[in-house]
Amino acid sequence: MTQRSFADLGVSGPLQRALRSENYTHPTPIQDQAIPQLLDGKDLLGIAQTGTGKTAAFALPILQYLFASRPGENIDAQRNDAGKGNSGGRHRRRAVPRALILAPTRELAIQIGESFRTYGRHLPLRHTVILGGVSQHSQVRALSGGVDILVATPGRLLDLVEQGHARLGQVSHLVLDEGDLMLDMGFLRDVRKIIAALPAKRQTMLFSATMPSDISRLAREILNDPVRVEVSPRTITVEKVDQRVFFVDTGNKRALLAHLLRDAGMSRVIVFTRTKRGASRLAMQLEKSGISTESIHGDKAQNARQSALARFRNGHARVLVATDVAARGIDISGVTHVVNYELPNIPESYVHRVGRTARAGAGGVALSFCDASERPFLRGIERVTKRPITVVENHPHRGSALPRQAASGGQDPRKSSPAGRAAHKSGTSKRRAASGFSGSNKRRTASNGNAPKRQGWSGERIATGGARSEGTSPSRTSPGGDASGGAGAHRRRRSRRRPPAA
Ligand code: AMP
Repeated sequence: MTQRSFADLGVSGPLQRALRSENYTHPTPIQDQAIPQLLDGKDLLGIAQTGTGKTAAFALPILQYLFASRPGENIDAQRNDAGKGNSGGRHRRRAVPRALILAPTRELAIQIGESFRTYGRHLPLRHTVILGGVSQHSQVRALSGGVDILVATPGRLLDLVEQGHARLGQVSHLVLDEGDLMLDMGFLRDVRKIIAALPAKRQTMLFSATMPSDISRLAREILNDPVRVEVSPRTITVEKVDQRVFFVDTGNKRALLAHLLRDAGMSRVIVFTRTKRGASRLAMQLEKSGISTESIHGDKAQNARQSALARFRNGHARVLVATDVAARGIDISGVTHVVNYELPNIPESYVHRVGRTARAGAGGVALSFCDASERPFLRGIERVTKRPITVVENHPHRGSALPRQAASGGQDPRKSSPAGRAAHKSGTSKRRAASGFSGSNKRRTASNGNAPKRQGWSGERIATGGARSEGTSPSRTSPGGDASGGAGAHRRRRSRRRPPAA
């Protein structure tokens, strides 16, 4: 949080009241940097991801502007009325959309719509959410009833524009949210078509967690002399999260998850899988074993996704199994653990996943399962997050994913690192050879650049207490499970270091 207040940023009275009801005492860094610029009418390029407070960063200025510029109102008089508590409420007209927010996923669109409702609750502005996967009927009705703010996923919006139900000729504010995901999901063409239907004179905001070259190009095309605001939640978010990796063979992942879930401390858990089918299957298996589980992925109908999310949110389901795309942007508080059942091959996805826990400044735990084929992904993740992830060695399903012997001429990494030595001693080398995993010298060098992490290991906190009691020799665990002292702890600390990558 920052020093300035929302009033200092120029946020008007009715919005401040709504923020107070939400217990937002101070702006987040992106709000602090973006809001004054946006209230000034500037275009914005925001490099930020969900969890930084970016929704309010664009929603507050939009609401404030749209309220002040209602037909018949004097904009200049109202632009500076911060803190005066203007309740509005006079106009009732058939509004046409003046703000358009494009989001790549339905969940994100719904969430943004909810934010507009929350922040705009004291203003007489209407919004609606347009998304695919459900009947267009109620959306068409909402549009014909008049809306000021349109939050939409690109495909359905384009349909409605083409059918003549949505008219975009009065849009003065455009937000493209999660630009990089929009690109990943193949929406760029639709987005360009939508932008072509908008007035050239408008305020445009583009938010993206990363800046691949296509997004930079799009930014150059659609933004006019933008202010660039970059918040670096990547490291910040990741730093707040206690991150652990379990080397485990693919076939043992389910048993490891079941084992970890025996800890009641894992009370609200999001498990990420790479595929939709994998998500469904795992959710079914967990449910069968008596763990209340829901799943969300792209093959599920929108209302099934919403009810799954609701059951997870309200605590009726303890575990939510999700794919990256379905989970992107969803904001659920109190997630105790994120489990990467499969490591993502895109490091940014790891950052997004991990960001589902440790929301709003709280701590959280991310547990990653890594089989032999996922070792390169792990190295990529560590390169992006710039920190090694602590290896959990004491668990009952240890796998063969440790690095294999160094290339000839080099030192055997198993012998040159404590973790490697530990793995070597415990006989994993045979299994490793069988796994056929290989890595390149280049990778080895890059990963060796990471200083080994020496972090206290608290089985209780991350719910592997059972692992210690089952699979641990007494010499490895000091009395009372204290990870911070004693000879056992010393050995543990040594063997916990990350081995140099293969
Ligand atoms: P977002 O990045 O917009 O998805 O926001 C992430 C979470 O932070 C949401 O739950 C917001 O309600 C919350 N949030 C946004 N701004 C603030 C603030 N200034 N103070 C406290 N919480 C906030």
